[in-house]
Amino acid sequence: MKSKPGRFGRFGGCYAPETLIGPLQELSRAYAGFRADPAARRELKAWLKDYVGRPTALSFAARLTRTLGGAKVYLKREDLAHTGAHKINNTMGQALLARRMGKTRVIAETGAGQHGVAAATAAACLGLECTVYMGAVDMERQALNVYRMRLLGAQVVPVDSGSRTLKDAVNEAMRDWAASVRTTHYILGSALGPHPFPTMVRDFQSVIGREARRQILRAEGRLPDLLIACVGGGSNSIGLFSAFLKDQDVELVGVEAGGEGLRTGRHAARFAPGAQGGSPGVLHGAHTYLLQDRAGQVRETHSVSAGLDYPAVGPEHAELFESGRAAYVSVTDREALAAFHLLARQEGLLPALESSHALAYALKRVPKMRRDRIVIVNLSGRGDKDMDTVRGSHG
Ligand SMILES: *Cc1c(COP(=O)(O)O)cnc(C)c1O
Repeated sequence: MKSKPGRFGRFGGCYAPETLIGPLQELSRAYAGFRADPAARRELKAWLKDYVGRPTALSFAARLTRTLGGAKVYLKREDLAHTGAHKINNTMGQALLARRMGKTRVIAETGAGQHGVAAATAAACLGLECTVYMGAVDMERQALNVYRMRLLGAQVVPVDSGSRTLKDAVNEAMRDWAASVRTTHYILGSALGPHPFPTMVRDFQSVIGREARRQILRAEGRLPDLLIACVGGGSNSIGLFSAFLKDQDVELVGVEAGGEGLRTGRHAARFAPGAQGGSPGVLHGAHTYLLQDRAGQVRETHSVSAGLDYPAVGPEHAELFESGRAAYVSVTDREALAAFHLLARQEGLLPALESSHALAYALKRVPKMRRDRIVIVNLSGRGDKDMDTVRGSHG
């Protein structure tokens, strides 16, 4: 499926400004060295076990399964990882790589602040300086996460250009990196951007899929029939899917943010059909699917969950979509909130609103499946960060 390094079929690549080509090549080489070095892999594994808290559990959702009356539902519990989501898997990996490269400083972009917190956490425990770029609008909306990052010793820099949200923060982080690469590594937050980021971030998140595969084989003695994960940039989903790509009998479904409904135009469903959906183009260094108007201007997106509110998607998903190996669907804000409440009451879990999207699709599919079927839903994070949103939605 992968033709050249950094290519996923016709997607991916490295469409970066000249000033970043050198740094990206240096990073590719360093990452290849990291991967080939058993001592480096052992060190990452130790951090994931002793600090992050891996392996995370694979929980059988007994009450939910009974209520839905169809397939057996298992939840992969990334909500149990340190900082409350899967993002730490990637930031620990990249921070260790940065240290190995002799860098003393890391930078990151963040939308809701979850990746910023995970980057600041990894930087703190490895003794690296950390700067996080965040849109000024997002800083206001996510004041508590700004405070968290500062407590962890990070400098948070407001970005006042463009729509003053995530995509503008990515631009600013890339500008910083081009000027500071001698001392600095850029910890990109999802399986996005120019090569080698989509491959590297997938690899760091693939621990989710490897664990889930081992755990379901132990629990059920066979592979699952269906995997469901939400897709923002695409890192938690590709991390889960990657261990099952060759198992053609395992159905893979990515769930995007349908926002207020596809017809309203207020959503982030890049793979939605027709004029409301996305189309191939280049954003932030990769050829992929993105939401753009006819003139190629990037469209505004909307989702109740900040982590899914991004106009492009990781290039490997674009390839999985076009090849048909994975399917992509969307659920609305309202459906995600309903799923949040159901999981809270039936399983004692408050999921992140991002993860609630994956769950909302499970609620539609599972009742139609036979009882001997097995579904794994990736619970990418916990919902503590979303309490204000949930309370404000009178769900
Ligand atoms: C950031 C985030 C996401 C979306 O990012 P992906 O790269 O698509 O995984 C999903 N869930 C949670 C809890 C997040 O914090």
